[in-house]
Amino acid sequence: MAVIDDAAAIAGDIARLRHAIHAEPEVGLDLPLTQQKIISALDGLPLEVTTGTALSSVTAVLRGAGQGDSAAEPGRRAGGGPVVLLRADMDALPVTERTGLDFASRIDGAMHACGHDLHSAMLVGAARLLSARRADLPGSVVFMFQPGEEGCGGAKFMIEEGVLDAAGRRAAAAYALHVASAELSAGVFSTREGPMMAAAEALDITVHGRGGHGSQPHHAADPIPVACEIVTALQVLVTRTFDIFDPVVITVGSFHAGTTNNVIPDEARLQVTIRSFSAPARALVREAAVRLVHDTASAHGLTATAEFEGSYPVTVNDQQEARFAAEVVTDLLGEDRFRPQPNPMAGAEDFSFVLDDVPGAFVMLGACPPPVDPATAPFNHSAFAVFDDTVVADGAAVFTELALRRLNRGYAP
Ligand SMILES: [Zn+2]
Ligand SMILES: [Zn+2]
Repeated sequence: MAVIDDAAAIAGDIARLRHAIHAEPEVGLDLPLTQQKIISALDGLPLEVTTGTALSSVTAVLRGAGQGDSAAEPGRRAGGGPVVLLRADMDALPVTERTGLDFASRIDGAMHACGHDLHSAMLVGAARLLSARRADLPGSVVFMFQPGEEGCGGAKFMIEEGVLDAAGRRAAAAYALHVASAELSAGVFSTREGPMMAAAEALDITVHGRGGHGSQPHHAADPIPVACEIVTALQVLVTRTFDIFDPVVITVGSFHAGTTNNVIPDEARLQVTIRSFSAPARALVREAAVRLVHDTASAHGLTATAEFEGSYPVTVNDQQEARFAAEVVTDLLGEDRFRPQPNPMAGAEDFSFVLDDVPGAFVMLGACPPPVDPATAPFNHSAFAVFDDTVVADGAAVFTELALRRLNRGYAP
């Protein structure tokens, strides 16, 4: 049977797994319940399953029987068939769910508001569909189930623990799907060549002054006006230093200083997010923002510290792999199920770390439940975000076809 029909036949199983993961969401790098559900769902398939050390990841390797390679000597033969990596993230967000769904989160303060429950369930579905085709697979597939996408850089930990070489040789291509509860209609896939998601930097700034009496600022070193200057100077930096066609966003989302009206505090603290869409713009903004913080403080005789915390690089789709992904979707599901994405998204993704090492594509999948209007539906991360189950079978089918067709293409880029 065709992949699409086999996927439809297991749609109920995929949705049930998705509901189970959704009802017990876990946040961060340690997701033991989610990990267990995935391992149980993979049970009985011809996979080599390993789990992470630094995080509760699951890596499963399917070795095709059609590649003339031996599991005992993986990677020994240069012509032993290529490796394709498929990735799903597993983690939830610290959000209290307000959707009212019958499988809504049973854990207060945790919700699968970014749809990673669908990703994990769809990838399990793809593991089943590809396992059933093992005899004809001319290579290997690595299934990467990853915790800690939301700010923890889980992908980086998995790369350090060897996921890209889990099949015995480096993956030739890597793909990830990401659902959206708004903006795209249910079942519509979207991607683009080149930059797909922004780089994100978290910059923590502390302006160090010297506290004193509010009536005698000349005896103190007031950090508040200096911090205010830094906030506005960062916006000027954006408009005067960067090409408007290679944009940068800087937002100071948190500004804290002082306790009352007549006391000059010792310090002011700012938390900043920075988004950029190319490696040169990213390098420049990182350097320029820190210099501006130090020099603005110094101009007033104060000092400042500026430290980056947990940054993600730009998610860059390989031109050929993005075209290939679009082709797979239109071949499999029809032209109306693919929409080219005109601009990169300003969100960030740690799949960027995978795409820094392996050519591949990050593909969005609309999951806005009809008849809700995707233009006004609550977007990912909202406590009201709802992702429609009808997309999971097609998601699993697209994962499967990407792997099948890419393996059949061989080592050629
Ligand atoms: Zn998210
Ligand atoms: Zn996400």
